[in-house]
Amino acid sequence: MKYILIIGDGMADSPLSELGGKTPLQVADHPNMDFIASHGECGRLITLPQELDTGTDIAIMSILGYDPREFHTGRGPLEAASIGIKLDEHDIAFRCNLITERNGILVDYSAGHISTDEAKELLKSIKDACEKPKEIKFFFGVGYRHLLVLKGNKHSSRIICTPPHDALNKPISEILPKEMDQKGAKTVRTLKRMIMVSKDILSDHPINRKRIKKGINPANMIWPWGHGTKPKFQPFYDLYGIKGAVISAVDIVNGIGVFAGLDVIRVPGATGYYDTNYEGKADYALESLKDHDLVLIHVEAPDEAGHLGDFNLKIKTIEDLDKRLIGRLLEGLKGDYTIALLPDHATSTELRTHSRDPVPFAIFSTSQSRASKVKHYDEISVKEGSLGLMEGVKFMPLFLKQNRFRK
Ligand SMILES: [Zn+2]
Repeated sequence: MKYILIIGDGMADSPLSELGGKTPLQVADHPNMDFIASHGECGRLITLPQELDTGTDIAIMSILGYDPREFHTGRGPLEAASIGIKLDEHDIAFRCNLITERNGILVDYSAGHISTDEAKELLKSIKDACEKPKEIKFFFGVGYRHLLVLKGNKHSSRIICTPPHDALNKPISEILPKEMDQKGAKTVRTLKRMIMVSKDILSDHPINRKRIKKGINPANMIWPWGHGTKPKFQPFYDLYGIKGAVISAVDIVNGIGVFAGLDVIRVPGATGYYDTNYEGKADYALESLKDHDLVLIHVEAPDEAGHLGDFNLKIKTIEDLDKRLIGRLLEGLKGDYTIALLPDHATSTELRTHSRDPVPFAIFSTSQSRASKVKHYDEISVKEGSLGLMEGVKFMPLFLKQNRFRK
């Protein structure tokens, strides 16, 4: 038996007045998704525990059976793993944004979506000034997104850092890192010092002077956040006896794969956006099943459309996922297989952010094809499904179980 898990990021939504009170999944034409729902079984899944935030990393950990309340430490270590950085036990990894500060206010979490080349040159000047080989290390990422690692056991993750995209137009002085207890005090001092040094160095950097002249936001400050130590996952294979692979353009998803011991497969042209290589993802997934039992295919595009507030684009991404990826997969699959389809979380196109609504899921297995009550894959129709409302961490054992639908 081969297992295919398709995650359409943020695909579920709330009813939209522009769509006559329907959701993008209800309106979109997606015959392949409907096939999975109508020949398999459906239910709804709670992937985001109330006490945690609404991130993709948290939702996907739930789906893979790693309770995020126990295993989630932060997105920094996931991103680090995704680009091949090995963390030691006490290391704390932070996402390190380049941001724009103006008159003491955080005005842009992406520094005008600065290019990777410009960002590297700016960050190099911070590296030169702040890096200490045994304690402080910077790593280049893409665009405004980079990484900072505090090494050794002098630092503590008992601190609060503010995600910059949640703090737009707030005074920097109010959102600087804070310690949760005495243990975090040194770490907070170190971070604050680097943030201030970065402002001094970057404000007058030739690249930023050019950007200001052109009327675009300068990258005049670093902003560490999303910190955590290395999460302690039990390998997926040890948990389920299944050899798996992951296909995603998103670093935190690949990072979860690394810690779970899944093989990360990079697909050329996978962008994490609506212009992604849907066909390539299907082809690489089929190829990966020759030497893996399971493949997780993650498609980011619907979530991005939701964040843009663009319901037409969201419908298009769902239809592309259906026809160009799922349809191609179903055509290419041979032998016995079980396929599951779900979003990691819902993304409200109206509110342009993630929501905690349970997500619709559907599972079809060639060994147990049956006529389901549910004829259409969407948030409302799956309420008729026989699998009901479930906790996220119960999904993976159910997906991998034979005879799952026998009563
Ligand atoms: Zn997501």
